[in-house]
Amino acid sequence: MLQKCEGIVIRTTNYGENNKIVTLYTREFGKVGVMARGAKKPNSRLAAVTQLFTYGQFLFQSSSGLGGLQQGDMISSMRSIREDIFLTAHASYVVDLTDKVTEDKKSNPFLFELLLQTLKLLNEGYDMEILTFIYEMKMLNVQGLYPVLDKCANCGSTEGDFNFSIREGGLLCHRCFRMDPYRIKTSPGTVRLLRLFYLLDLSRLGNISVKPETKLELKKVISAYYDEYSGLYLKTRKFLDQMDSFRDQL
Ligand SMILES: [Zn+2]
Repeated sequence: MLQKCEGIVIRTTNYGENNKIVTLYTREFGKVGVMARGAKKPNSRLAAVTQLFTYGQFLFQSSSGLGGLQQGDMISSMRSIREDIFLTAHASYVVDLTDKVTEDKKSNPFLFELLLQTLKLLNEGYDMEILTFIYEMKMLNVQGLYPVLDKCANCGSTEGDFNFSIREGGLLCHRCFRMDPYRIKTSPGTVRLLRLFYLLDLSRLGNISVKPETKLELKKVISAYYDEYSGLYLKTRKFLDQMDSFRDQL
């Protein structure tokens, strides 16, 4: 049966001399793997639409295993992302994370929209670190992770100064600091942004400017939380960290 969908290329793997196996994240079906025959040939009509990050309309022959990609109409090639090594590093991590935490053929239109908006904003030059933080925070629920961000994870208080405790799985108020000597120091601004990123609808994101030291705190908290709870080890994450430290040296 021929299926039509709106999708984003989140992974491509060469297969044989001329073919590519393409993983799409689609609005209609969630994650779908398709074989793109001949797509590695430069003159193939599938060559351009099967590049990583491409957003388009796709027509594929569905089967119990890998479907066959018949046609693709590009809506956006996400060209700016492709042309910038730092943006590519961020976007690669975003699509890889999506790939690793989703199951095949389980539709999640909310996640599709989030991924699409994130790539679009990256492509338009919005702050790439902030976008990646937001994406990571929003992907927590998809992984069944629910950090406590609206109150102290120990006593439930909503008042006071807060740090972040990996062990307690969320915020810890100053009265409970002794519960976790390894808690991560967080300024009120960082706490506010963690909450905002977790809850905010991306379409309502205005221009927020975040101080470098706040970014560092955000990164520390989010990375440590992922390391402890996600069970993921992504090469794209490692690459992104290397690119970030490389950029800091420039
Ligand atoms: Zn407390």
